[in-house]
Amino acid sequence: MGKKTAAVMKGDGIGPEVVDAMLMVLRECDIQSEIVMCDAGSEQWDRNGRKDPSYIPDDTMAILEESDACFKGPTTTIPIPGAPRSVAVTLRQKFDLYANIRPTKTYERLTQGHGLDCVCFREATEGLYTGIEARITDDAAIAIRKITRHGSDRIINAAVRWADDHGMKKMVAITKRNILKETDGIFWDAAQRGVSGHNIELSEMYIDNIMQQLVVNPGQFNGAVLVSTNLFMDIVSELASGLVGSIGLIYSANIGDDFAMFEAAHGSAPRFAGQNVANPVAAICSGAWMARYLGEADIGDAIFAATEGVVNDGATTTTDIGGSATTVQMACAISDGAKTLLRR
Ligand code: NAD
Repeated sequence: MGKKTAAVMKGDGIGPEVVDAMLMVLRECDIQSEIVMCDAGSEQWDRNGRKDPSYIPDDTMAILEESDACFKGPTTTIPIPGAPRSVAVTLRQKFDLYANIRPTKTYERLTQGHGLDCVCFREATEGLYTGIEARITDDAAIAIRKITRHGSDRIINAAVRWADDHGMKKMVAITKRNILKETDGIFWDAAQRGVSGHNIELSEMYIDNIMQQLVVNPGQFNGAVLVSTNLFMDIVSELASGLVGSIGLIYSANIGDDFAMFEAAHGSAPRFAGQNVANPVAAICSGAWMARYLGEADIGDAIFAATEGVVNDGATTTTDIGGSATTVQMACAISDGAKTLLRR
């Protein structure tokens, strides 16, 4: 089998700092896959005169098409009509990366009696992210929430596979079926079909209810796979991230049948750009997951274990989780820990 290739985009705002931290850790761990750097995001779009209809230049797209996986640093999406679509949404649709997955687990030191250990599965190609919007009159605009049986089946089946592989016995399908009877009816039917024949207890929770349940009693979701449509799970997973202590800890993957994109769950946090203060854990763990995906599981496992050690130890952590270390210092502590584990 030939050498695997990963395309890496540094992105905007704090992106270059956290992606440099991630690359440093992978290289210190002697990753064998080839890393190919390319550009994407609104800062390069600005620099190039705002002419391109996309935040992803054609030469970057060509590199992505030749790669086995990619890593996307956080990118800024300018919120005005006519500006390009988000890089993440574009790549999810282009490569049909239908499963956005966020394992969401508290670290012991940060738990404070509210431990949470679940995984969030978000359908990432349809729902309210189809980009189909129309201004009907001066007064009114509509957006289309498209839910299909095919799209629902494949995200549910991916969630069921994860549950089976990780010994998780609970699945919560999040809907608003009392109001969205047709669209969420399709999603709920898929959930029931998907768990049939598996040792998984399925329940349904409405989106409004689960938001308050997560705040009041997050522990009830321990060991559960939470699965939902695009926008609902965007919001649920973000709330769950807050419960873990910092969005700077949450890593994610967008996985399709032939390609995958790895990214921190957080955005470009422009206010902190260039200050060497951003928490690098989300980017580093997303990179560790990419290493596993590329067949270098030993490196991925070592980085995850070292990160857990550094976060729980607390001596070299960034300010968002109570420390005073810089991005670079925390990344070095993780890389030292991972190298020690790999040498054993
Ligand atoms: P954000 O995640 O960039 O920032 C929200 C807050 O989270 C920040 O103020 C900061 O306090 C904290 N934060 C984020 N990352 C952190 C880190 N690594 N360490 C410590 N604290 C961290 O979200 P936003 O302000 O809503 O969005 C800013 C930009 O990012 C927008 O243009 C948005 O579209 C974009 N965005 C991109 C992605 C992505 O690329 N996948 C995801 C979300 C938002």
